[in-house]
Amino acid sequence: MLEVAPGVKWQRMPLPLSLNHINLWAIEDGAGWTLVDTGMKTSQTAATWETILAGPLGGRPITRVICTHMHPDHVGMAGWLTRRFDCPFWMTRLEYVTCRMLVADTGREAPADGLRFYRAAGWSPADLERYKARFGDFGNMVYALPDSFHRVSDRQEITIGPHRWQAVIGRGHSPEHLSLYCPDLRVLISGDQILPKITSNVSVFPTEPDADPLTDWLTSLSAIRAAVPDDVCVLPAHNEPFYGLHARIGQLIDGHERSLGRLLEALTEPKRVTDLFSLLFRRPISEGTLQMATGEALAHLNCLIQRRQVTAQPGPDGITTYIATDHLPGVVRSQP
Ligand SMILES: [Zn+2]
Repeated sequence: MLEVAPGVKWQRMPLPLSLNHINLWAIEDGAGWTLVDTGMKTSQTAATWETILAGPLGGRPITRVICTHMHPDHVGMAGWLTRRFDCPFWMTRLEYVTCRMLVADTGREAPADGLRFYRAAGWSPADLERYKARFGDFGNMVYALPDSFHRVSDRQEITIGPHRWQAVIGRGHSPEHLSLYCPDLRVLISGDQILPKITSNVSVFPTEPDADPLTDWLTSLSAIRAAVPDDVCVLPAHNEPFYGLHARIGQLIDGHERSLGRLLEALTEPKRVTDLFSLLFRRPISEGTLQMATGEALAHLNCLIQRRQVTAQPGPDGITTYIATDHLPGVVRSQP
């Protein structure tokens, strides 16, 4: 573990994914430690925790577990740690209830709504079969969640050891993502909200097909740029700590606006969601990334629909196509 600020330690925890690690943080909190994020539920994570607890954390107790959001790499071991140390669990309310909801899908059959949603996006019968087989996987990556939580709200101040940390809420990657800003230490624990190298997935899911998470995402990035000064050391959940918060937020916003522009240019004729991947992603989409790519493409389309620049056209075959509103048949285009 590396000390990245006074009393703040950084642990890089392995992940069994193509994204092969997550950064976790331990903050000195009186006689023990407050943890921020916990790793995915695997035997390797549990073994690594044993080593950390006995070694770098000096056998001192965990006094509190805070999770930035509900994704399994962040929340996976929260129940294991809070039960072991009989300590409280802190999270925003929407993250907690959404996580409980997703965990409850484990053991259920894939719903008709989900199959309809992905069929509409242009998935093949083989893709839909894989969706059925994998439905409910989420719960397998999360240790039984703590049965209660302390709610964290936007701008709330949390005292950890000698310092105050301010809750900074973001939306779009997950419903109510928590970042933690410490003005004394000039540190921002950014979770998945601001990452230095990769862009966070912003997706539409079958439970809310009309959701517009990309507008939420862009709005909250601007709000964070206004709320947190540029000179903080950013501690992200993936890759390395960095300086340059405002420039990175600018890059993230500009990248999405460019993607929106490319989609709009391509939609001079009707296209399915799956026809649009090459405009949005540099890498080819495989079985393993199809669901994320579909969700992310839909997030861009729903944002353009919200801006009244694109229209969705459900087809009689159950497949939805999208077209730029200016190119709808019968629409009189404005003069150049
Ligand atoms: Zn995440």
